[in-house]
Amino acid sequence: MPYEGEYATYRPLHRISECERVKGLLARSKLLAAKSACEPRPVTPPENAAPLPRFILAVDGSYAEVDVKTGYPGAKVGYCTVASVLIDLNLVGKLDEQRPTDPAEFRKTEQAASVDAALPGSNVVTRRQNSARASFREELYDLFTETIVDEDDRTNLLSTYEALLALKPTASPQTCPYEESHGCTARFTVGARCTTCPTCGRPVYSTDALRIHERFRDIGTNGEAFGLVMQVIERLLVVHFLRCFERRNLLHRLTSLAFFLDGPLAVFGPPAWLSAAIGKELMRLNAKVQASTGQDLLILGIEKTGAFVEHFTEIDQTETPGKQLFAARQYMLLTDGYIKGRILHSDSQKRYGEDTYFGRKFFYKTRSESRIVAVIPFLTDAQDSLATDDISLYPQLPAVCALLDRVVSSQYANAVSPLIAANAQAAIPLHLGSKVLTQLARALLGTAEDGR
Ligand SMILES: [Zn+2]
Repeated sequence: MPYEGEYATYRPLHRISECERVKGLLARSKLLAAKSACEPRPVTPPENAAPLPRFILAVDGSYAEVDVKTGYPGAKVGYCTVASVLIDLNLVGKLDEQRPTDPAEFRKTEQAASVDAALPGSNVVTRRQNSARASFREELYDLFTETIVDEDDRTNLLSTYEALLALKPTASPQTCPYEESHGCTARFTVGARCTTCPTCGRPVYSTDALRIHERFRDIGTNGEAFGLVMQVIERLLVVHFLRCFERRNLLHRLTSLAFFLDGPLAVFGPPAWLSAAIGKELMRLNAKVQASTGQDLLILGIEKTGAFVEHFTEIDQTETPGKQLFAARQYMLLTDGYIKGRILHSDSQKRYGEDTYFGRKFFYKTRSESRIVAVIPFLTDAQDSLATDDISLYPQLPAVCALLDRVVSSQYANAVSPLIAANAQAAIPLHLGSKVLTQLARALLGTAEDGR
């Protein structure tokens, strides 16, 4: 393995791209035709007729891996936080004139409002365990068990997770989590709570079904595993909040609340099965919301980086200097054909993101001309398609666009935390473990009293 930066000192990168081997490889590669069959078509959404929700619940996670002293070399701990913040749009309007807060500064003040967890990394073994991986698995289970969103509700994150686990198909059993460490070759379906492997008899946790431990490494860095934990908790929290509202008979109030999530509405890697389960659960909850309000849930994932963000930037530049393809307030709903033809080359019959996404992507240029790559969920069977760019399938899209216009500043595009930061003065941090739901319920009920 070369050291970081070694190639650069050995041979400058631009010279590598010039070399014969690289040129040869490119000559054998498919290049995008200058005039592609699928051209981007920006459209202006219909004017939003529905009243905008007064609140946005923004969920945003982060993680860091830190070196710790255990006496063993290279010992590391993963620190994952997921912040949930309620943004009051009535206040946003009043504070529009004020200068946005620096996101880095805001993140510091936000820490107290987070689900925060320290998880074992390489060479950190808890007292009851005999390996870092086993410690990681146990701590993850304990984290889900101990994460209580509201003191009055006492429902833990584990119960939401296990409700989704119950939706997981049982057709393909997974390998015993002790396969690598103890050579157990058993294959079985992981159930709720703490059980045991039918062959080796060792403890198996319901969270083992996430299979994040398969990406855990006993030596070196575990950024991938911690990233997966953060991704799962962010998405679980949204479902958790919705299920709590359901228990409190508040689903009919959800027209005053939109959910914004950091990253796409998708689950990647070993826990990807969760995506279909979340999709199913959202459809179930949405049917109830639809029945009592006639509207769909407002949930949005915002993508910060990646091929879609790059592609949006690229197509927005036209050959005419100073002229951009997307005018302010124009969107484009991405179809399967467009994605495969222009963004991620594929001849596959399988729909883009079929196993990972529970929503579909669109591009939107806000009133302030920020480019946003976002994902709206599939909330009905009809919405669960990438076949056409027919916006009538997604009646909530005009409201989503209007919301983005309201909260995205031109200064910080493409992520939830800048969105929170830009609206910091109107953001109410939700201290998990304290009466979050009571706070939320009061906010939602309060909007009714305000005559909204
Ligand atoms: Zn076993």
